[in-house]
Amino acid sequence: MELTVANRRAIERACRRIVHALKMSQDREVIDVSKQLAVEEALQRIEKTDEVAQFLEPLLEAKTEVEVSAYEALIERYTKPFPSLTNEQLRNMWKKEKKLKVPNVELVDWGELVYFTWKDMTTRTQYIVAHDGTRYVTVKGTIGMAVKDGICAICNEPTETRSFTVTHRVKGQQRSQTNAICANPTDCNARLADEQRLHRFIERQQKR
Ligand SMILES: [Zn+2]
Repeated sequence: MELTVANRRAIERACRRIVHALKMSQDREVIDVSKQLAVEEALQRIEKTDEVAQFLEPLLEAKTEVEVSAYEALIERYTKPFPSLTNEQLRNMWKKEKKLKVPNVELVDWGELVYFTWKDMTTRTQYIVAHDGTRYVTVKGTIGMAVKDGICAICNEPTETRSFTVTHRVKGQQRSQTNAICANPTDCNARLADEQRLHRFIERQQKR
């Protein structure tokens, strides 16, 4: 079985909730309910099968924080990193952009990424690359200067956001849509436990 980085985050969240329950309560029933809820929530985010449900079962049995930590260490081994990208691949994704500035990908820690993104502040453009399991999907948008409190359209968390505007030309007319997304993509990546949300976000930005 393989987990994506987002799947791992979903399970880590469940682990944190269970540790919290173990700390806060002595009541076996209360703890069991918390465990059930934590595992169910993780399964919803992962949107996967019996195999994952089985994989999560030891969490329902965990009686101590140490057992939860040991389980967390185990998930690492099942997680596959975001499929790494080369500068050449990035350039191919935005071929029409003559002045595309691609970042140096050599230092990227792919094991911590749910999606890859970078900003070109001179053109105020943010580029996003995700992977849907079979292929890369991309979107780029213009980012606003102002940083505001809001809810990120990608990770759904309350945070400092910037506007992200995607513009398409449809039948000679410009159409654009704006969303608020995390001003800090590293934080966004670290929080994102529901990959479907990311893919729905990208899908909504496509030309139609
Ligand atoms: Zn976010």
